[in-house]
Amino acid sequence: MKIEIDTHTHSIASLHAYSTIDELVYGAEKHGLRGFVLTEHGPALHGGLPHPYYFGNLQVLPHEIRGIKLFRGVELNIMDENGGLDLPVKYLKILDFVMAGLHEACFTPASKDKNTRAMLAAIENPFVDCISHPGNPAYPVDYEKVVKAATRCGKALEINNSSFKVRKGSDENCKTIARLAKAYGCLTSCGSDAHYREDVGRFDAAQAVIEEAGIGGKQLINSTLEDFTEFYKRRRAERKRHG
Ligand SMILES: [Zn+2]
Ligand SMILES: [Zn+2]
Repeated sequence: MKIEIDTHTHSIASLHAYSTIDELVYGAEKHGLRGFVLTEHGPALHGGLPHPYYFGNLQVLPHEIRGIKLFRGVELNIMDENGGLDLPVKYLKILDFVMAGLHEACFTPASKDKNTRAMLAAIENPFVDCISHPGNPAYPVDYEKVVKAATRCGKALEINNSSFKVRKGSDENCKTIARLAKAYGCLTSCGSDAHYREDVGRFDAAQAVIEEAGIGGKQLINSTLEDFTEFYKRRRAERKRHG
């Protein structure tokens, strides 16, 4: 299976990442991608940075650099069990891809029940397209409920390649998510979560889990440029409709 689009990358604007956008393009070229989504962390992770204006001004970037497509995204922080997010709707309406995930600095790991409520609320939020690293073992959740909700809402659950390295214990959780996703027909994404240029388009561990579960075709939203384009256009139209 090929993966042409990386749906999860961070530049230096994410403050704990180490490459510029042009360097991320270099990584994408090196790994044979057709494009990637720039998904900086939402402002709540680092005391308000990057400023929301950063997301509003992404429109000045070209849609393509040296033949590599550049999509405008974000990795929002799920702030509370009601699914509160850290960017106003006016920004979410204009982006190509809106991910949301649980991060320690913004949501203290809680009971399985509370973590699950937070993730379900984010899935049901019409401005969210995808949940980043739902397999993070720091946040036990009811995977059955999460996968069923994402399936019903047409949202994607990410199998995150960096999780296998930096979120120890993700393996079994990601396999469970992939198995349930296959069973229920839930959309998935495969993201590198690159914080450095060399990791853009690096999917080996996540891809193995996805392939082992038998997920393929349009069920993986970023396998081809065409499938990803179909997904993000549908979701963007949906977000605009709710704005
Ligand atoms: Zn994250
Ligand atoms: Zn990330």
